[in-house]
Amino acid sequence: MAELTITFLGTGTSQGVPVIGCECAVCGSVDPRDKRSRSSIYVQSPECSWVIDTGNDFRVQCLREKIKRLDAVVYTHSHTDHIMGFDDLRVFCFSGKKIPVYASPETMKDLKRVFNFAFNGENMFPGYILPEPHEVEGAFMLGNTELVPLPVKHGRAHVNGYLLSRNGRRLAAYLCDCKEIPDAVIEQIEGTEILIIDALRRRPHPTHLNVDEALEIAGRVRPGQTWFTHLCHELPHEETEGTLQPGVRIAYDGLKLEA
Ligand SMILES: [Zn+2]
Ligand SMILES: [Zn+2]
Ligand SMILES: [Zn+2]
Repeated sequence: MAELTITFLGTGTSQGVPVIGCECAVCGSVDPRDKRSRSSIYVQSPECSWVIDTGNDFRVQCLREKIKRLDAVVYTHSHTDHIMGFDDLRVFCFSGKKIPVYASPETMKDLKRVFNFAFNGENMFPGYILPEPHEVEGAFMLGNTELVPLPVKHGRAHVNGYLLSRNGRRLAAYLCDCKEIPDAVIEQIEGTEILIIDALRRRPHPTHLNVDEALEIAGRVRPGQTWFTHLCHELPHEETEGTLQPGVRIAYDGLKLEA
């Protein structure tokens, strides 16, 4: 078995693709890789499994990928496209099991505000969600995988990307929403086997990396493979991938990577 299997639950930007009411070529595309639900990954290791983010499409993504096991949830930030599937975690709390939730103190504060009913300790009926909050202040372990938070800037929001390492090997870095990546983070993830990075569209955007900016970062990180995610409807899968250099690909919903 691979040390880590990463399944892309979603690869879309906040509105998802197709966009409601849009008649553009990508929104009308018949290529299944052009259907992008809200960005999230499911990670399986030999010891345990977790998701990074639970967006609006979380329930449908779990059904599509037939997810039966989830031992923890890790959040990047509290934008709605990353947290709104939170309540559907309840199925992983059956028989009174608590689900560990990892987030920065800032993101945890938002989760506790938005989902107060889940954190206030009053909902103890069977079948309700039972989160066990863990504020991320530094590296932590899920099974034998080390998760190192990677603080990046995404407009006014502070986002934690994550580096996933096992036995000292940098297996994957996940940077789903970002505009600025500090040099210290580039150093931490340099040479990782897999880089998954925000590449919203070709045009510049105030809070997301575009394709050229993501390529520039990838050139500095020098990963084994680069996968673009958090994509909008301006990037047709097939056509865009054809313009990228070898080793740089466009992720799509349902894609599985092994490291
Ligand atoms: Zn997002
Ligand atoms: Zn469109
Ligand atoms: Zn965001």
